[in-house]
Amino acid sequence: MVRKRNGDVVVPTLLERLGHAIWGKDDQCCCDPSSPALQIVVRCSHCGEVIRTRVEKAYELEAEYETSNGHRAHEHEEPRPTGYTLHKEMLGARCQQLINVTMHFDANRCILQRQIEGGEFLEISDCL
Ligand SMILES: [Zn+2]
Repeated sequence: MVRKRNGDVVVPTLLERLGHAIWGKDDQCCCDPSSPALQIVVRCSHCGEVIRTRVEKAYELEAEYETSNGHRAHEHEEPRPTGYTLHKEMLGARCQQLINVTMHFDANRCILQRQIEGGEFLEISDCL
């Protein structure tokens, strides 16, 4: 079934281009593989203190090794990380509440998922 509907061509193309522009911008602001560190700013839910920490991507991200079917790769295979996990405990100066941050990254160290206990995220940004 081939039906030419010239009137419909322009709109989807424009939407598609807008979508690419939006996602392209998003990728740049949260996922810069060339930056060596992340800055995480959180607020303690107990006392409201704002705590910031720096995460060295090279040292603090734990690599995850999984094959495509979800099983752990054998040890004799050349391991290639399929993603990374960050576990970070943050403690402010004002109270003793420990803030637990867990973040999941894909193989390019782009943030996929983030969780926090004991506080809330204010900002996550790449830094030098
Ligand atoms: Zn606190």
